[in-house]
Amino acid sequence: MHLPFVRVMLLVVLSWIAGCASTPNAPSAPQPRTVLLVSIDGLRADIPGSGRMPTLDALFAQGAHAAWLNPSYPTLTFPNHYTLVTGLRPDRHGIVHNDMRDAVLGQFESKKASGRDGRFWGGEPVWIGAQRAGLKTATMFWPGSEAEIAGGRPDHWRPFDSGTTPAQRVASVLAWLDLPAAERPRFITLYLEQYDVAAHADGTFSPRALAAMHEIDDALAALLRGLEGRRLRDSTNLIVLSDHGMADVRSVDTAYLDDVLPEALFSWSSLGPVAHIIPRPGQEADVARRLVGRHDHYTCWSKETLPAAWHYGRNPRIAPFVCQSDVGWRLQLHRHPLPRQPVKGEHGFAPEDPQMRAFFVATGPDFFPNAALPAFDNVDVYPLLAHLLGIPAAPNDGTLDTFAPVLRPRTPSPH
Ligand code: AMP
Ligand code: ZN
Ligand code: ZN
Repeated sequence: MHLPFVRVMLLVVLSWIAGCASTPNAPSAPQPRTVLLVSIDGLRADIPGSGRMPTLDALFAQGAHAAWLNPSYPTLTFPNHYTLVTGLRPDRHGIVHNDMRDAVLGQFESKKASGRDGRFWGGEPVWIGAQRAGLKTATMFWPGSEAEIAGGRPDHWRPFDSGTTPAQRVASVLAWLDLPAAERPRFITLYLEQYDVAAHADGTFSPRALAAMHEIDDALAALLRGLEGRRLRDSTNLIVLSDHGMADVRSVDTAYLDDVLPEALFSWSSLGPVAHIIPRPGQEADVARRLVGRHDHYTCWSKETLPAAWHYGRNPRIAPFVCQSDVGWRLQLHRHPLPRQPVKGEHGFAPEDPQMRAFFVATGPDFFPNAALPAFDNVDVYPLLAHLLGIPAAPNDGTLDTFAPVLRPRTPSPH
């Protein structure tokens, strides 16, 4: 065979291989923008930047970060995660507590089968709006993602499995990003509960909680390396936040509601830091007289008179009376000990308490780096997600104005 011909063919083949290797993620080829929403359950506002999680600390320093993120009332996991993806207060989206009662549907228990029943979940999660706009979506766990809501589910979702490690979850997210362009999700969630679990069991800065912080931080590092390796860092808007904070508590600090209210007068749909009390028929006035007001270590209101700042009380699923314990205390009944004992860390306290503050940081092509924001309410995250995805926001309780100081003027994302 002709030597020059072989050489030319070799060159052609080599340049084709080089072309293949670089085509999908070549630095010059603009990638469609992706939104990645990461939640670290229970991670208090004072932890990022404190030197305990180097990767999160670096993100915090480089990104647009809030002084803190105000959780919605009540400061529990399911109400707040669903607020983050709908922009609706729990009073409006209907997940008013981790455990609640609906007059028609019955009891909702977030961690049991009823938690996956779409009829409880109101509003429209952002993945539905994204799908309507033709974008693929994926959830590596998120409260609400397992339920069929507003007629659908994310394109990719997984039944919640606490046995899946943070590293495995990150690997799944990266695998989704490796899908062919037409299949690749443009909105992805990643949910990590390991800190919440550890802090409940052993306390906010216990060795176990610190180990969970490290495990999560390593997973964040792997996520960033994975994005960089795929040359996707510049086209990914990455938001890392939490749903609420965490306080150290002593399991012995329990107030008993039946010390002020005979059990014959009422039933309840939830206990703990936030108790929902339902008077038995005909006992409403008696319950109101005995319960409403200040008690040792907690306060009770009728649902119509709850503090206005909590935006809570209109939803029919909220019981007629709501009691909120002071930080560190829990409400229960002598005959109904709470299942999760002993507890050394807890949330669910008033959102104004600094220990209940969540955190927020965002980096990516649509954000100015290194920009500080004052504290804002977590209902504002949804309009931000809609903006970043370039989709119309469904009616919500938040505002995009919060982010005006940190958002770059928008350039269209290539498709
Ligand atoms: P809590 O601390 O009671 O507000 O709830 C947080 C806990 O809920 C986490 O530690 C997880 O174990 C659990 N959890 C989070 N997401 C889900 C889910 N999608 N399905 C079931 N359980 C979940
Ligand atoms: Zn939580
Ligand atoms: Zn928790």
